[in-house]
Amino acid sequence: MIFGALGRKLSGLLLRRPVTLWHDPRYRLPLGGLEASVGIEPRRADFAAWWLTGSGAIPARALRAPKRIAVHRLSRVHTPELLESLGRPEGLASVFGADPSDVRVDELMDTIRLACGGTLGATRETLRTEEPAINLLGGFHHAGPNVAGGFCPVNDIAVAITAVRDRGFTGRVVILDLDAHPPDGLAACLEADPRCFIGSLSGSDWGPLPGVDETVLPDRAGDEPYLAALRGLLERAPRPDLAYVIAGGDVLAGDKLGRLGLTLAGARLRDLAVARWLDGVPQVWLPGGGYSSRSWRVLAGTGLAVATRSLRPIPEDYEPLIARFSGISAGLSQAELGDGTDLNMDDIEESLGLRPTRQRLLLGFYTAQGMEVALHRYGVFTHLARLGYRNFRLEFDREGAGERVRLFGTAVDLEGEQLLMELILEKRRCLGVPVLYVHWFSLRHPRAHFSEKRPRLPGQEVPGLGLALEAGTMMARMAIRLGLGGVVFRPSNYHVAYTSRKGFAFVQPERQGRFEALVRDLSSYPLAEATRLVAEGKVHLGDAPYTWEADEMVYWLRESPADAGEVERVKAVTHFTVVP
Ligand SMILES: [Zn+2]
Repeated sequence: MIFGALGRKLSGLLLRRPVTLWHDPRYRLPLGGLEASVGIEPRRADFAAWWLTGSGAIPARALRAPKRIAVHRLSRVHTPELLESLGRPEGLASVFGADPSDVRVDELMDTIRLACGGTLGATRETLRTEEPAINLLGGFHHAGPNVAGGFCPVNDIAVAITAVRDRGFTGRVVILDLDAHPPDGLAACLEADPRCFIGSLSGSDWGPLPGVDETVLPDRAGDEPYLAALRGLLERAPRPDLAYVIAGGDVLAGDKLGRLGLTLAGARLRDLAVARWLDGVPQVWLPGGGYSSRSWRVLAGTGLAVATRSLRPIPEDYEPLIARFSGISAGLSQAELGDGTDLNMDDIEESLGLRPTRQRLLLGFYTAQGMEVALHRYGVFTHLARLGYRNFRLEFDREGAGERVRLFGTAVDLEGEQLLMELILEKRRCLGVPVLYVHWFSLRHPRAHFSEKRPRLPGQEVPGLGLALEAGTMMARMAIRLGLGGVVFRPSNYHVAYTSRKGFAFVQPERQGRFEALVRDLSSYPLAEATRLVAEGKVHLGDAPYTWEADEMVYWLRESPADAGEVERVKAVTHFTVVP
């Protein structure tokens, strides 16, 4: 059960080593479409930080807040043309595979400059203390002096090395690039520095890279060949005075862009081998790439390897956002959320029939102000502000069988108030259990446009906000507070079910089995493409086109009555094919 993992502490069981952990909540890229279009987990740094500090592996006193890197430090490595291109939405959009309408230059540059500042701060501190440092965003190894791309706007490692060289550091630097892709940008930035050694293990062959000790492994090499190649690299590498490790999350099997196919245990063994090799050397660890929802587990595992040398896996049932929100929720009082206030003149006039009755309480509990407090504490308003919205206002009313919540806000560049979120909720029963029934749910990002990079998904009017996980987790918290046993909704399309499949499952095990078979058989397609294929009848079940079944999905908050055996049985015998 998901909530069983809460409060699980590792401290006391582990020998902790002194490390520093560099993190800022603004490490989350302020791009609403990233999760849907690239399959990236934009909360990766947050998730890893929450796990590492929450489990006790890294104490809160080891946390460091990065400062934004100064522009003059960037220009020691990059050309004015490159830096100028990052001042335009189109330039930044091309680096991150986003649509320019989704890019707010100042906010995105904040994230990038903080990450670079983190790498430099970590470098300076580890040189002073010789304690390992982990920066939870960085390792932008594709950025060259005049090139940005592949999620790498500037080269944080080259910028940090140049900065400490400028202050007189002359020691040997070793960069172990263990991201799944080659360090083309790093090689270009550092080619004039003879005291830099770059060693790399990749799963993609981009041709020869002068000055790099590179091993290209075959497709889906897996743990054993990878770890053998790593041992070879560590034997060849010189002894460093300062080391950088790009502990890429894209080595993991199932990554959208990396092809190495490592297990989580294999990635941990990688980090342990490197951590042991670097014992006593000033060292900075960086996450590099990672294009799957599970890449945060690689990053948190890196932190565990460096800080505790532990091989213990992170529990599969630990869901970082659920753990985080339940902690925040525990700090929200009934008086803050509900109707704990005294009657005012409006209430008295209303009760005397002197003014129309307002919809004051949502589900008999929440006031609009209480919901606003919750949205603020969960960080939703902060994220919306980074996407270009402000002046938030909640409104409750009735709609059909349910109660409607709408969140409005103004946009920095649009006229008038915009609808950002709409929910229609009802308390109802499912299999005899009282649940929170979600009739309608939409997240709207009216500032952003659909494009080739961000195709319209079936049922979408405007692009989404990238906050579906937060919204779903908040609904679960609401259901818990109201004493309900679950959250239920009907996914109108394949992509809605797909993005909800972490916590939610179809009520009927046989339907869940068919859904899991569909996910398995469409796994090689990007989500937007997969949902379009289903909506257009291009996916066949047997000889006939498959029609999407919008049956009820449920997220059980107590225990799941689902029959796992039946799910597996149906999944095994169900096969979908895509008809071109
Ligand atoms: Zn990569």
